[in-house]
Amino acid sequence: MTTSEIQDKMFAEFLDFSLYEKALKEGYQYLTHAMDRHVFPDDDAMAALKQFDEPFPESCSSGTGVLDILKTYGEPATVPHVGGRYFGFVIGSMVPASLSAKILSAFWDQCPAMEVLSPLGAALESVVEAWLKEIFSLPEQCVAGYVSGTSSAIFCSLAAARYRVLQRCGWDVNEKGLYEAPKIRIVAGRQVHSTVIKGISLMGFGKENIEWVDVDSQGRIIPEAIPRLDKKTILLLQAGNVNSGAFDNFSAICESARNQGAWIHIDGAFGLWVQACGSLRHLTRGCWQADSWSVDCHKTLNTPYDSGVVICRDREALIDALHMSGAYIVKGKGRDGMFYTPEMSRRARIFEIWSALKYLGRKGLDQMVAGFHDRAVQFEEELAAAGFEVVNEVVFNQVLVRCETDELTLKTLEQIQKLRVCWCGGSKWEDREVIRLSICSWSTTRADVSLAVRSFVDARALAAGSLSG
Ligand SMILES: *Cc1c(COP(=O)(O)O)cnc(C)c1O
Repeated sequence: MTTSEIQDKMFAEFLDFSLYEKALKEGYQYLTHAMDRHVFPDDDAMAALKQFDEPFPESCSSGTGVLDILKTYGEPATVPHVGGRYFGFVIGSMVPASLSAKILSAFWDQCPAMEVLSPLGAALESVVEAWLKEIFSLPEQCVAGYVSGTSSAIFCSLAAARYRVLQRCGWDVNEKGLYEAPKIRIVAGRQVHSTVIKGISLMGFGKENIEWVDVDSQGRIIPEAIPRLDKKTILLLQAGNVNSGAFDNFSAICESARNQGAWIHIDGAFGLWVQACGSLRHLTRGCWQADSWSVDCHKTLNTPYDSGVVICRDREALIDALHMSGAYIVKGKGRDGMFYTPEMSRRARIFEIWSALKYLGRKGLDQMVAGFHDRAVQFEEELAAAGFEVVNEVVFNQVLVRCETDELTLKTLEQIQKLRVCWCGGSKWEDREVIRLSICSWSTTRADVSLAVRSFVDARALAAGSLSG
């Protein structure tokens, strides 16, 4: 094919509605099926992935042909966590309006790096920034950057903190780098999320230099165990322990940490959203006193992947830390999104966040978040009644359970995953094996929880049989 033949072919297919109609139809069928499909691919589906293992194709094929292959061999090997019985990691479903916004905006293909590149993206990023400050009750001067997730938001927060802490010491880290810079102290609880530790090493602070603070039985920092802080300290707190769901006691910690001059970061990947819920808001009391916050939308807010936000009280620190310049950059009168994120180009996740918030409203969001806690409590009660031991205080949406012995817990988890009625992962808690449940999807019903508990019981019977047999 010549260049112009390829171009003609692409024009024809680009404007052929039936291609997208097919994609939508297949997607829609997937969605309806996903609600009751087994939550993990079966062995045949996994084996079929070999079909993708081919040399780079020689010639141009058709749009429908490519879509067909993706659907036929790819779809069966997806993990349908949009349904109600996926309890692994901390994985949300999709708010309907948010999915439709993703579909529509896929055609727009907007890049909100600069206002001039996407006035709509810029406008909505500003609107949602204001909404988020209201939802989380954060100070007016805070700014938000829209990133891929909490890992990235933590990275941006630490960059802003590093910039400001060193600047206060008379050191410009952008110009001088870290060699011979004044030493920054990093203070963190022993149960900090692994992505915080990754951020610490990426920033050049060194894991060895972390001053670890002891935690209580739920993984919360013990306020009295925090060392004396100072202007050179970054203190890392957590709203929602990834295992127990526990929250650090911000009202006991933040005021004094602020008075001592420390930069406080709160990792609230899924937990910060309890601020949106009247019956759970007490868990985050005092969190407004921090300097930066990292939070996911693809978890508790149930937007599609990927979506996270860095929120920073110190606008100048965030922008200067992530700053870039170039002769071709056009500064808008409104918001140029790239000043608040590490990337220049990125997709306009904002359409999905805006749609989810616009759709739910204050009441809908409150109810959705409250529902996660209700389902977690239902799990706690039904699992306890079935003879499992729940080992954490179920303050929000995480439930940790175990059997009498570690061996039985591990075997039971293996059987749960084989039965594929629900999916959950394992973890360790107080040096013992646990099964870890996270309720984070609007689509989880009471019936889903009961079905899952029944599967736990079946799995334990199979596991006990295999251990005695
Ligand atoms: C999920 C999670 C992260 C990492 O977030 P990503 O969006 O996966 O990058 C960090 N901290 C906590 C507490 C989490 O639950």
